[in-house]
Amino acid sequence: MSQKFVLASRNSHKVEELDRILKLAGIDAQLLTVADFPDAPEVPETESTFEGNALLKARALAKHTGLTAIADDSGLCVNALNGMPGVLSARWSGSDNDADRANMDLVLRQIHDVPDVRRGAQFVCAAAVVRADGEEFTVRGTVDGVLVREPRGTHGFGYDPIFVPNGFDVTTAEMTADQKDAISHRGQAMRQLAELI
Ligand code: IMP
Repeated sequence: MSQKFVLASRNSHKVEELDRILKLAGIDAQLLTVADFPDAPEVPETESTFEGNALLKARALAKHTGLTAIADDSGLCVNALNGMPGVLSARWSGSDNDADRANMDLVLRQIHDVPDVRRGAQFVCAAAVVRADGEEFTVRGTVDGVLVREPRGTHGFGYDPIFVPNGFDVTTAEMTADQKDAISHRGQAMRQLAELI
């Protein structure tokens, strides 16, 4: 019998990615999303860690639906900014909503004087699974890279146009979705998760 999971995201890219990864792992899963539960509570991301925020969202959704819930939280950690924007990545320029261009421009201004050799950064994704009986676990995927000075590429979202993963000479915004999934923090976290559920 197929297992039912509910994903704490309305982002169709994330839903399709997890669906693909679960199928590749041979898991017979029926994937619902928070959009299937219009009364599900909105959960503010108030924790100081990616794992903490992913758990907050997954716990609330497991409680509301009685199903196994999956949530993720991700962001960009810049070495020269002591790991920031981190969990504040989506709101770094102060807006309540995603403001990708403003966030990216702010990071570029903040590290304007940082020399090329110290422009390292890391994308991080933590994913949490919480079962209706309260059992829970988290996994983490990371990808290391460097931040370029001028945005390049039109794919992806967020900080993709300024992030070049180590071992590549293109930004993640210049990669196809499949190329990015194969190396990305989210792809890695979702593949670990698929092995554990
Ligand atoms: P969330 O995990 O969907 O809340 O995303 C947090 C924020 O981190 C996004 O709004 C982006 O600014 C940034 N971020 C997370 N993952 C990526 C990525 O794969 N590419 C670019 N930016 C990302």
